[in-house]
Amino acid sequence: MSDEKPSHLERLSLALYTNNLTMDVNRQRTDYDYVVALGIATGRNGSVAAPLTHLHLHSTQSAYRQAHEAVVDLVKRVGSKKNWRLNAGNTKRVADLALAHHVAPACPVCSGRKWQSIPGTPSTSGAPCTACRGSGRRPVHRNLHDEITQIIAMLEKADDLTSRTIGRLLR
Ligand SMILES: [Zn+2]
Repeated sequence: MSDEKPSHLERLSLALYTNNLTMDVNRQRTDYDYVVALGIATGRNGSVAAPLTHLHLHSTQSAYRQAHEAVVDLVKRVGSKKNWRLNAGNTKRVADLALAHHVAPACPVCSGRKWQSIPGTPSTSGAPCTACRGSGRRPVHRNLHDEITQIIAMLEKADDLTSRTIGRLLR
């Protein structure tokens, strides 16, 4: 995400709290445009897009629960197509871990900084973080690794599609 310009998602989170949904006849972008674009974008991009976007915009428990339900459904659909043969517990486990990873993708050991820190200082050492092997990304659990990784990729793709659809609609 760019540092200077707010991303479409950031702009949207402002628009969702607006009390001004008037359209601008001079075709300036208004909150109205963003809210409409969000509706179109999440509607087009599959069943996880809307609850995921909702979760990114409002990190509430109910938003998490809705997103989680959508991810469980996604795991069931993908699992039956790919013949994963997951029982109910593992289906939920894949959904839990994939969604947690998606929401907080930074490595918890190095906080995404990729290097080991020097204890007691804010500085990083020259050695890569052993937990994420210097990727800065939260390591994916070994058990059910492939299933979780594939679901994470789909969640990322859903977000990416939503963001690009909004970008196209508001060009
Ligand atoms: Zn790390």
